[in-house]
Amino acid sequence: MTPRLWAVLTLAVLAVALLVVAAVRVPWSSPPAPRADQVAALRDLPADAVARGRAFHAALRPPAYFSLLLGLVISLILGLTPLGARIVAAAGRPFGGNWIAEALLGGLAIMLIGQVATLPLAAWRETVLRRYGLSTQTWGGWTVDLLKGMAIGAVLGAIVLLAFFGIARLTPDWWWAWLAAGAAGLVVLLSFVLPVLIEPVFNKFTPMPAGELRDSLIAMAARDGVPVKDVLVADASRRTTALNAYVSGLGPTRRVVVYDTLLDEAPPAEVQAVVAHELGHAKLNDVFTGTALGALGAAAAVCAAFLVGSWTGLLRLAGVESVTQPRALALLLALAAIAGLVATPLQNAVSRLIEARADAHALAVTDDPATVEKMDGRLALKNLSDVDPNRLEYLMFASHPSTVERIAAARAFARGER
Ligand SMILES: [Zn+2]
Repeated sequence: MTPRLWAVLTLAVLAVALLVVAAVRVPWSSPPAPRADQVAALRDLPADAVARGRAFHAALRPPAYFSLLLGLVISLILGLTPLGARIVAAAGRPFGGNWIAEALLGGLAIMLIGQVATLPLAAWRETVLRRYGLSTQTWGGWTVDLLKGMAIGAVLGAIVLLAFFGIARLTPDWWWAWLAAGAAGLVVLLSFVLPVLIEPVFNKFTPMPAGELRDSLIAMAARDGVPVKDVLVADASRRTTALNAYVSGLGPTRRVVVYDTLLDEAPPAEVQAVVAHELGHAKLNDVFTGTALGALGAAAAVCAAFLVGSWTGLLRLAGVESVTQPRALALLLALAAIAGLVATPLQNAVSRLIEARADAHALAVTDDPATVEKMDGRLALKNLSDVDPNRLEYLMFASHPSTVERIAAARAFARGER
């Protein structure tokens, strides 16, 4: 069997594994919240808050769509014409023009082009957040965040590019097998280290202070069979007025994090309802599910890159001889951008189902749908949510059920229907 045939076979096995994990771990059968309840929920929410959320999202739309479009156009122009290859070659030339210089400096140049081009749109988005009072950042703080994000991207990108082109040089026929395993391993590693290495770059995390609320949360977790040692508080207020909480990490690095804004704004019963949702994620190992899907997807993407990369017409467009030379990195990024366009709505569909299940868990654990509904309303109000977004945007971009869906689910639960 040729390496090519092995790659086809491996890709097929990975695709089946991806489908099996998705079939077993994603709650496909959970029924959507009754639309009649959604319509009633929309009517019951304060009209001015609903209008404000809609206006906010309408104002965010131009920078968001321009940025998406511009990013895509740039990656297609760089990747599907010889321009990207020329830029990579030019970036590497002053440093000897060897493959390491081209991979590192070419990668940096391509990343910077994308960042600089979309920078005005990112700033535009920030001005909208400020106009609506959602951002508490200064331009200094905003710039520091941007630079930190770029620094992390540059370090991770450098590791990935050196591994990719280095291994491809060592084993021109079998690099995809090693790199598929490496990509899957990297996804798992990042899930482990995210809470201890990357999140602290952006926020300070402190254990929730001792007291009634902390005791009640720890007791609820124990009752739920998800013992947590600590609930951490993130200093989110340095950046935003939005309320949130999340679970991240795997095994020893798993943690429940609440925003300090949530503790300041929401009464204890609603904080409990939010944490009950997060306990649902912890209990059902949703981070593990996401990591497994991500790892299989990354490995499949490497195999696909090997197969697509032997398509000479595509290589000719990009002005390169092989995808394994650093000059092809713009081509690889263009392929990744196209794949991302297809994968994003699928990821969001899976995410919404998993989030709806965590909502159901919160309802079951608290057995207090009235408080869950109040909490959903408060989150929508403070976060300026579009409580009932249009269908297309919902399908493309929503990672969570809409506010009216969440309230409708709470009302159905209150009637004993779920
Ligand atoms: Zn969630």
